[in-house]
Amino acid sequence: MPSDRITGLAAVLDAVRGGDHMTQPMLVERVGLGRSVVAQRVAELETAGLIEGAGLGPSSGGRAPRQLRLRGDRGRVLGVDIAATELVVGLADLGGTLLATRQQAIDVADGPEPVLSLAEKLAGELVGDGAAPIWAIGVGVPGPVEFRSGLPVVPPIMPGWDRYPIRDRFTARYGAPVWVDNDVNVMALGELRSRPQALEAEHMLYVRAGIGIGAAIIMDGRLYRGANGSAGDIGHVAIPEGGNTICRCGNIGCLEAVAGGTALAREGRMLAETRQSPALAAILATSQEVRPIDVTQAAAQGDQAARALLQRTSALLGGTLATLVSFYNPAELVLGGGIVRAKEHVLDTIREAIGRRALPLATQNLRIDVAALPEELSGVTGAVHLALDEVFSAASLETWLAAGSPRMPSPH
Ligand SMILES: [Zn+2]
Repeated sequence: MPSDRITGLAAVLDAVRGGDHMTQPMLVERVGLGRSVVAQRVAELETAGLIEGAGLGPSSGGRAPRQLRLRGDRGRVLGVDIAATELVVGLADLGGTLLATRQQAIDVADGPEPVLSLAEKLAGELVGDGAAPIWAIGVGVPGPVEFRSGLPVVPPIMPGWDRYPIRDRFTARYGAPVWVDNDVNVMALGELRSRPQALEAEHMLYVRAGIGIGAAIIMDGRLYRGANGSAGDIGHVAIPEGGNTICRCGNIGCLEAVAGGTALAREGRMLAETRQSPALAAILATSQEVRPIDVTQAAAQGDQAARALLQRTSALLGGTLATLVSFYNPAELVLGGGIVRAKEHVLDTIREAIGRRALPLATQNLRIDVAALPEELSGVTGAVHLALDEVFSAASLETWLAAGSPRMPSPH
Protein backbone atom coordinates (compact mmCIF):
# COMPACT_ATOMS: atom_id res chain seq x y z
CA MET A 1 0.00 0.00 0.00
CA PRO A 2 1.37 3.43 -0.94
CA SER A 3 1.99 5.77 2.03
CA ASP A 4 -0.25 8.75 2.83
CA ARG A 5 2.43 10.97 1.37
CA ILE A 6 2.41 9.15 -1.99
CA THR A 7 -1.39 8.95 -2.03
CA GLY A 8 -1.52 12.72 -1.42
CA LEU A 9 1.03 13.39 -4.17
CA ALA A 10 -1.00 11.26 -6.60
CA ALA A 11 -4.23 13.05 -5.67
CA VAL A 12 -2.67 16.50 -6.15
CA LEU A 13 -1.08 15.43 -9.43
CA ASP A 14 -4.40 13.95 -10.59
CA ALA A 15 -6.23 17.20 -9.89
CA VAL A 16 -3.59 19.32 -11.63
CA ARG A 17 -3.67 16.93 -14.62
CA GLY A 18 -7.45 17.00 -14.90
CA GLY A 19 -8.36 20.54 -13.95
CA ASP A 20 -7.48 23.66 -15.82
CA HIS A 21 -5.62 26.31 -13.90
CA MET A 22 -5.68 24.61 -10.52
CA THR A 23 -4.54 26.77 -7.61
CA GLN A 24 -3.59 25.63 -4.11
CA PRO A 25 -6.91 26.82 -2.58
CA MET A 26 -8.75 24.85 -5.27
CA LEU A 27 -6.60 21.80 -4.55
CA VAL A 28 -7.42 22.00 -0.84
CA GLU A 29 -11.08 21.76 -1.76
CA ARG A 30 -10.61 19.12 -4.45
CA VAL A 31 -8.37 16.59 -2.72
CA GLY A 32 -9.55 17.09 0.85
CA LEU A 33 -6.13 17.66 2.45
CA GLY A 34 -5.12 20.55 4.71
CA ARG A 35 -3.52 23.70 3.35
CA SER A 36 -0.04 23.03 4.65
CA VAL A 37 -0.07 19.42 3.42
CA VAL A 38 -1.19 20.55 -0.04
CA ALA A 39 1.57 23.20 -0.07
CA GLN A 40 4.13 20.49 0.78
CA ARG A 41 2.88 18.11 -1.90
CA VAL A 42 2.86 20.88 -4.51
CA ALA A 43 6.44 21.79 -3.58
CA GLU A 44 7.51 18.15 -3.87
CA LEU A 45 5.89 17.76 -7.28
CA GLU A 46 7.57 20.97 -8.47
CA THR A 47 10.95 19.76 -7.23
CA ALA A 48 10.35 16.48 -9.04
CA GLY A 49 9.73 18.48 -12.21
CA LEU A 50 6.20 17.20 -12.72
CA ILE A 51 4.25 20.44 -12.26
CA GLU A 52 5.01 24.15 -12.53
CA GLY A 53 3.48 27.55 -11.90
CA ALA A 54 1.62 29.18 -14.78
CA GLY A 55 0.50 32.70 -13.91
CA LEU A 56 -1.88 33.91 -11.23
CA GLY A 57 -5.43 32.77 -10.57
CA PRO A 58 -8.37 34.85 -9.37
CA SER A 59 -7.91 36.36 -5.91
CA SER A 60 -10.49 35.83 -3.21
CA GLY A 61 -9.49 38.97 -1.35
CA GLY A 62 -5.82 38.50 -0.49
CA ARG A 63 -2.84 37.75 -2.69
CA ALA A 64 -3.77 36.06 -5.99
CA PRO A 65 -2.89 32.34 -5.88
CA ARG A 66 -0.51 30.75 -8.38
CA GLN A 67 -2.05 28.57 -11.08
CA LEU A 68 -0.44 25.19 -11.55
CA ARG A 69 -0.04 22.98 -14.56
CA LEU A 70 1.50 19.68 -15.52
CA ARG A 71 4.89 19.76 -17.26
CA GLY A 72 3.43 17.85 -20.19
CA ASP A 73 6.57 18.11 -22.33
CA ARG A 74 8.87 16.17 -20.03
CA GLY A 75 7.89 12.91 -21.62
CA ARG A 76 5.77 11.28 -24.26
CA VAL A 77 3.19 8.52 -24.14
CA LEU A 78 2.42 5.95 -26.83
CA GLY A 79 -1.13 4.73 -27.36
CA VAL A 80 -1.62 1.56 -29.39
CA ASP A 81 -5.16 0.64 -30.45
CA ILE A 82 -5.35 -2.83 -31.96
CA ALA A 83 -8.80 -3.47 -33.48
CA ALA A 84 -9.95 -6.49 -35.46
CA THR A 85 -9.12 -4.93 -38.83
CA GLU A 86 -7.25 -1.75 -37.99
CA LEU A 87 -4.25 -0.56 -36.07
CA VAL A 88 -3.89 3.01 -34.78
CA VAL A 89 -0.76 4.24 -32.99
CA GLY A 90 -0.61 7.68 -31.40
CA LEU A 91 2.01 9.82 -29.70
CA ALA A 92 0.83 12.17 -26.95
CA ASP A 93 2.29 14.51 -24.36
CA LEU A 94 1.92 13.83 -20.64
CA GLY A 95 -1.30 15.84 -20.59
CA GLY A 96 -2.84 13.34 -23.00
CA THR A 97 -2.93 15.64 -26.03
CA LEU A 98 -2.40 13.61 -29.19
CA LEU A 99 0.50 15.04 -31.19
CA ALA A 100 0.34 12.65 -34.15
CA THR A 101 -1.22 9.34 -35.16
CA ARG A 102 -0.62 6.60 -37.72
CA GLN A 103 -3.27 4.22 -38.96
CA GLN A 104 -3.12 1.04 -41.02
CA ALA A 105 -5.40 -1.86 -41.97
CA ILE A 106 -4.52 -5.20 -40.33
CA ASP A 107 -6.09 -8.56 -39.63
CA VAL A 108 -5.65 -9.23 -35.93
CA ALA A 109 -6.08 -12.94 -36.67
CA ASP A 110 -2.65 -12.87 -38.38
CA GLY A 111 -1.25 -13.14 -34.84
CA PRO A 112 0.98 -11.01 -32.59
CA GLU A 113 4.21 -11.07 -34.60
CA PRO A 114 3.13 -9.18 -37.75
CA VAL A 115 0.68 -6.91 -35.91
CA LEU A 116 3.09 -5.83 -33.16
CA SER A 117 5.98 -5.43 -35.61
CA LEU A 118 3.80 -3.05 -37.59
CA ALA A 119 2.87 -1.19 -34.38
CA GLU A 120 6.58 -0.81 -33.62
CA LYS A 121 7.27 0.46 -37.13
CA LEU A 122 4.47 3.07 -36.90
CA ALA A 123 5.61 4.06 -33.40
CA GLY A 124 9.15 4.48 -34.75
CA GLU A 125 7.86 6.93 -37.37
CA LEU A 126 6.05 8.92 -34.69
CA VAL A 127 8.84 8.99 -32.14
CA GLY A 128 11.48 9.89 -34.73
CA ASP A 129 14.63 11.18 -33.08
CA GLY A 130 12.78 11.19 -29.78
CA ALA A 131 13.45 14.61 -28.30
CA ALA A 132 11.26 13.66 -25.34
CA PRO A 133 11.55 10.16 -23.86
CA ILE A 134 8.67 7.65 -23.79
CA TRP A 135 7.31 7.52 -20.23
CA ALA A 136 4.50 5.02 -20.64
CA ILE A 137 2.60 2.92 -23.17
CA GLY A 138 -1.08 1.97 -23.26
CA VAL A 139 -2.39 -0.82 -25.46
CA GLY A 140 -5.99 -1.81 -26.29
CA VAL A 141 -6.78 -5.21 -27.83
CA PRO A 142 -10.06 -6.66 -29.15
CA GLY A 143 -10.40 -9.42 -26.58
CA PRO A 144 -10.44 -10.17 -22.85
CA VAL A 145 -7.31 -9.15 -20.93
CA GLU A 146 -6.25 -10.15 -17.44
CA PHE A 147 -5.44 -6.61 -16.36
CA ARG A 148 -2.93 -7.40 -13.62
CA SER A 149 -0.63 -9.35 -15.95
CA GLY A 150 -1.58 -7.54 -19.16
CA LEU A 151 -2.11 -10.89 -20.89
CA PRO A 152 -4.92 -11.57 -23.40
CA VAL A 153 -6.81 -14.65 -22.17
CA VAL A 154 -8.42 -16.96 -24.75
CA PRO A 155 -9.46 -14.06 -27.00
CA PRO A 156 -12.11 -15.42 -29.43
CA ILE A 157 -11.12 -13.40 -32.52
CA MET A 158 -7.36 -13.28 -31.86
CA PRO A 159 -5.90 -16.71 -32.68
CA GLY A 160 -2.25 -16.95 -31.58
CA TRP A 161 -2.56 -14.17 -28.97
CA ASP A 162 -3.58 -16.28 -25.96
CA ARG A 163 -1.29 -15.17 -23.07
CA TYR A 164 1.09 -13.41 -25.50
CA PRO A 165 3.35 -11.09 -23.44
CA ILE A 166 2.59 -7.76 -25.17
CA ARG A 167 3.76 -5.87 -22.08
CA ASP A 168 7.17 -7.55 -21.90
CA ARG A 169 7.78 -7.01 -25.59
CA PHE A 170 7.08 -3.25 -25.53
CA THR A 171 8.82 -2.73 -22.19
CA ALA A 172 11.98 -4.37 -23.52
CA ARG A 173 11.86 -2.24 -26.64
CA TYR A 174 10.98 1.16 -25.20
CA GLY A 175 12.24 0.96 -21.61
CA ALA A 176 8.91 2.22 -20.26
CA PRO A 177 6.05 0.71 -18.29
CA VAL A 178 3.20 -0.77 -20.37
CA TRP A 179 -0.49 -1.37 -19.59
CA VAL A 180 -2.80 -3.54 -21.69
CA ASP A 181 -6.59 -3.62 -21.53
CA ASN A 182 -9.51 -4.68 -23.71
CA ASP A 183 -10.60 -2.25 -26.40
CA VAL A 184 -13.97 -1.37 -24.86
CA ASN A 185 -12.42 -0.34 -21.53
CA VAL A 186 -9.89 1.73 -23.42
CA MET A 187 -12.57 3.43 -25.56
CA ALA A 188 -14.56 4.23 -22.42
CA LEU A 189 -11.51 5.88 -20.86
CA GLY A 190 -10.98 7.95 -24.00
CA GLU A 191 -14.59 9.05 -23.87
CA LEU A 192 -14.47 9.77 -20.14
CA ARG A 193 -11.43 12.03 -20.49
CA SER A 194 -12.65 13.77 -23.64
CA ARG A 195 -16.17 14.93 -22.86
CA PRO A 196 -16.83 17.42 -20.09
CA GLN A 197 -20.30 16.04 -19.31
CA ALA A 198 -18.86 12.53 -18.89
CA LEU A 199 -16.27 13.85 -16.46
CA GLU A 200 -19.19 14.82 -14.27
CA ALA A 201 -20.76 11.38 -14.75
CA GLU A 202 -19.20 9.46 -11.89
CA HIS A 203 -21.29 6.47 -12.93
CA MET A 204 -21.15 5.84 -16.63
CA LEU A 205 -21.84 2.83 -18.76
CA TYR A 206 -20.06 2.78 -22.11
CA VAL A 207 -21.41 0.30 -24.63
CA ARG A 208 -19.57 -0.43 -27.82
CA ALA A 209 -21.82 -1.99 -30.43
CA GLY A 210 -20.35 -2.91 -33.78
CA ILE A 211 -19.09 -6.25 -35.06
CA GLY A 212 -18.44 -7.00 -31.40
CA ILE A 213 -20.57 -5.89 -28.47
CA GLY A 214 -19.10 -5.05 -25.07
CA ALA A 215 -19.53 -2.66 -22.18
CA ALA A 216 -17.24 -0.79 -19.82
CA ILE A 217 -18.19 0.38 -16.36
CA ILE A 218 -17.07 3.74 -14.96
CA MET A 219 -17.64 3.78 -11.21
CA ASP A 220 -16.82 6.81 -9.05
CA GLY A 221 -15.05 8.29 -12.07
CA ARG A 222 -12.78 5.27 -12.52
CA LEU A 223 -12.85 2.19 -14.68
CA TYR A 224 -14.23 -0.81 -12.80
CA ARG A 225 -12.65 -4.01 -14.09
CA GLY A 226 -13.91 -6.65 -11.66
CA ALA A 227 -11.77 -9.41 -10.15
CA ASN A 228 -9.89 -10.44 -13.30
CA GLY A 229 -10.58 -7.70 -15.82
CA SER A 230 -13.63 -9.07 -17.60
CA ALA A 231 -16.32 -6.85 -16.05
CA GLY A 232 -18.73 -5.55 -18.68
CA ASP A 233 -17.97 -8.21 -21.28
CA ILE A 234 -21.64 -8.62 -22.22
CA GLY A 235 -21.39 -9.64 -25.88
CA HIS A 236 -21.80 -13.31 -25.11
CA VAL A 237 -24.62 -13.32 -22.60
CA ALA A 238 -27.52 -15.43 -23.81
CA ILE A 239 -30.68 -13.52 -24.63
CA PRO A 240 -34.18 -15.04 -24.97
CA GLU A 241 -34.44 -13.93 -28.61
CA GLY A 242 -31.06 -15.53 -29.40
CA GLY A 243 -32.56 -18.92 -30.18
CA ASN A 244 -30.10 -21.31 -31.79
CA THR A 245 -28.10 -18.68 -33.65
CA ILE A 246 -24.47 -19.82 -33.62
CA CYS A 247 -22.00 -17.22 -32.33
CA ARG A 248 -18.34 -16.86 -33.31
CA CYS A 249 -17.47 -17.73 -29.70
CA GLY A 250 -18.84 -21.23 -30.31
CA ASN A 251 -21.90 -20.80 -28.11
CA ILE A 252 -25.47 -20.22 -29.25
CA GLY A 253 -27.95 -17.41 -28.70
CA CYS A 254 -25.43 -14.73 -27.68
CA LEU A 255 -26.43 -11.05 -27.77
CA GLU A 256 -23.60 -10.40 -30.25
CA ALA A 257 -24.79 -13.20 -32.55
CA VAL A 258 -28.19 -11.55 -33.05
CA ALA A 259 -27.54 -7.83 -32.43
CA GLY A 260 -23.91 -7.37 -33.58
CA GLY A 261 -22.64 -6.12 -36.93
CA THR A 262 -22.26 -9.63 -38.36
CA ALA A 263 -25.94 -10.36 -37.68
CA LEU A 264 -26.90 -7.02 -39.24
CA ALA A 265 -24.95 -7.86 -42.40
CA ARG A 266 -26.41 -11.38 -42.52
CA GLU A 267 -30.01 -10.14 -42.14
CA GLY A 268 -29.35 -7.32 -44.58
CA ARG A 269 -28.14 -9.82 -47.16
CA MET A 270 -31.31 -11.84 -46.67
CA LEU A 271 -33.42 -8.73 -47.25
CA ALA A 272 -31.45 -8.15 -50.44
CA GLU A 273 -31.72 -11.73 -51.71
CA THR A 274 -35.46 -11.87 -51.05
CA ARG A 275 -35.85 -8.41 -52.63
CA GLN A 276 -37.65 -7.13 -49.54
CA SER A 277 -35.16 -4.28 -49.62
CA PRO A 278 -34.66 -2.72 -53.06
CA ALA A 279 -31.77 -0.56 -51.80
CA LEU A 280 -29.85 -3.53 -50.36
CA ALA A 281 -30.61 -5.65 -53.43
CA ALA A 282 -28.96 -2.96 -55.55
CA ILE A 283 -25.90 -2.89 -53.27
CA LEU A 284 -25.60 -6.67 -53.33
CA ALA A 285 -25.83 -6.68 -57.13
CA THR A 286 -22.96 -4.20 -57.52
CA SER A 287 -20.61 -5.14 -54.67
CA GLN A 288 -21.52 -8.83 -54.05
CA GLU A 289 -21.78 -8.13 -50.33
CA VAL A 290 -23.86 -6.35 -47.72
CA ARG A 291 -22.00 -4.66 -44.86
CA PRO A 292 -23.51 -3.18 -41.67
CA ILE A 293 -22.84 0.31 -43.03
CA ASP A 294 -24.86 -0.56 -46.15
CA VAL A 295 -27.89 -1.29 -43.98
CA THR A 296 -27.47 2.09 -42.27
CA GLN A 297 -27.12 3.89 -45.59
CA ALA A 298 -30.15 2.12 -47.06
CA ALA A 299 -32.16 3.17 -44.00
CA ALA A 300 -30.96 6.76 -44.44
CA GLN A 301 -32.23 6.66 -48.04
CA GLY A 302 -35.67 5.72 -46.75
CA ASP A 303 -35.58 1.95 -47.37
CA GLN A 304 -38.35 0.60 -45.12
CA ALA A 305 -37.00 -2.94 -44.75
CA ALA A 306 -33.55 -1.65 -43.73
CA ARG A 307 -35.15 0.71 -41.22
CA ALA A 308 -37.22 -2.10 -39.72
CA LEU A 309 -34.11 -4.29 -39.46
CA LEU A 310 -32.19 -1.57 -37.59
CA GLN A 311 -35.16 -1.14 -35.28
CA ARG A 312 -35.39 -4.86 -34.52
CA THR A 313 -31.66 -5.05 -33.88
CA SER A 314 -31.60 -2.00 -31.62
CA ALA A 315 -34.64 -3.28 -29.70
CA LEU A 316 -32.69 -6.49 -28.93
CA LEU A 317 -29.71 -4.45 -27.76
CA GLY A 318 -31.99 -2.11 -25.80
CA GLY A 319 -33.50 -5.07 -23.92
CA THR A 320 -30.10 -6.11 -22.61
CA LEU A 321 -29.14 -2.49 -21.88
CA ALA A 322 -32.33 -2.14 -19.80
CA THR A 323 -31.07 -5.02 -17.64
CA LEU A 324 -27.67 -3.33 -17.26
CA VAL A 325 -29.28 -0.01 -16.37
CA SER A 326 -31.43 -1.71 -13.72
CA PHE A 327 -28.38 -3.50 -12.36
CA TYR A 328 -25.93 -0.62 -12.32
CA ASN A 329 -28.01 2.61 -12.30
CA PRO A 330 -25.60 4.73 -14.35
CA ALA A 331 -26.05 8.51 -14.70
CA GLU A 332 -24.96 8.31 -18.31
CA LEU A 333 -25.11 5.62 -20.97
CA VAL A 334 -22.81 6.25 -23.91
CA LEU A 335 -23.06 4.23 -27.12
CA GLY A 336 -19.91 3.87 -29.20
CA GLY A 337 -18.69 1.81 -32.15
CA GLY A 338 -20.35 1.28 -35.52
CA ILE A 339 -23.81 1.90 -34.06
CA VAL A 340 -23.01 5.63 -33.91
CA ARG A 341 -23.38 5.83 -37.69
CA ALA A 342 -26.97 4.60 -37.36
CA LYS A 343 -27.72 7.04 -34.55
CA GLU A 344 -30.96 8.52 -35.89
CA HIS A 345 -32.41 5.08 -36.65
CA VAL A 346 -31.56 3.35 -33.38
CA LEU A 347 -31.33 5.84 -30.52
CA ASP A 348 -35.09 6.30 -30.02
CA THR A 349 -35.70 2.54 -30.05
CA ILE A 350 -32.96 1.95 -27.51
CA ARG A 351 -34.25 4.77 -25.29
CA GLU A 352 -37.74 3.34 -25.52
CA ALA A 353 -36.63 -0.23 -24.70
CA ILE A 354 -34.72 1.00 -21.66
CA GLY A 355 -37.57 3.25 -20.55
CA ARG A 356 -40.04 0.40 -20.84
CA ARG A 357 -38.04 -2.24 -19.01
CA ALA A 358 -35.79 -0.50 -16.46
CA LEU A 359 -37.08 0.87 -13.17
CA PRO A 360 -38.28 4.50 -13.18
CA LEU A 361 -35.83 5.39 -10.41
CA ALA A 362 -32.97 4.06 -12.56
CA THR A 363 -34.02 6.04 -15.64
CA GLN A 364 -35.38 9.32 -14.29
CA ASN A 365 -32.09 11.22 -14.74
CA LEU A 366 -30.40 8.81 -17.15
CA ARG A 367 -28.71 10.47 -20.11
CA ILE A 368 -28.37 8.27 -23.20
CA ASP A 369 -26.19 9.49 -26.03
CA VAL A 370 -23.65 8.44 -28.62
CA ALA A 371 -19.89 8.78 -28.17
CA ALA A 372 -18.37 12.22 -28.74
CA LEU A 373 -14.97 11.01 -30.00
CA PRO A 374 -14.78 9.87 -33.62
CA GLU A 375 -14.57 6.06 -33.77
CA GLU A 376 -11.07 5.93 -35.26
CA LEU A 377 -9.64 8.08 -32.45
CA SER A 378 -11.50 6.77 -29.42
CA GLY A 379 -9.31 3.69 -28.93
CA VAL A 380 -5.98 5.44 -29.33
CA THR A 381 -7.06 8.37 -27.13
CA GLY A 382 -8.16 5.89 -24.48
CA ALA A 383 -4.91 3.91 -24.73
CA VAL A 384 -2.99 7.13 -24.03
CA HIS A 385 -5.15 7.89 -21.00
CA LEU A 386 -4.87 4.32 -19.76
CA ALA A 387 -1.09 4.75 -19.70
CA LEU A 388 -1.30 8.19 -18.04
CA ASP A 389 -3.81 7.13 -15.37
CA GLU A 390 -1.65 4.17 -14.46
CA VAL A 391 1.78 5.80 -14.58
CA PHE A 392 0.56 8.67 -12.37
CA SER A 393 -1.36 6.41 -9.96
CA ALA A 394 -0.14 6.22 -6.36
CA ALA A 395 1.01 2.59 -6.76
CA SER A 396 3.11 3.51 -9.78
CA LEU A 397 4.41 6.87 -8.48
CA GLU A 398 5.76 5.05 -5.45
CA THR A 399 8.02 2.96 -7.68
CA TRP A 400 9.54 5.76 -9.76
CA LEU A 401 9.14 9.21 -8.17
CA ALA A 402 12.50 9.09 -6.41
CA ALA A 403 14.21 8.21 -9.70
CA GLY A 404 12.66 11.25 -11.42
CA SER A 405 10.96 9.39 -14.29
CA PRO A 406 9.26 6.04 -14.92
CA ARG A 407 11.82 5.09 -17.54
CA MET A 408 13.58 1.83 -16.95
CA PRO A 409 17.26 1.15 -17.44
CA SER A 410 17.73 0.17 -21.08
CA PRO A 411 18.46 -3.54 -21.51
CA HIS A 412 20.97 -2.72 -24.24
ZN1 LIG B 1 -20.94 -15.65 -28.26
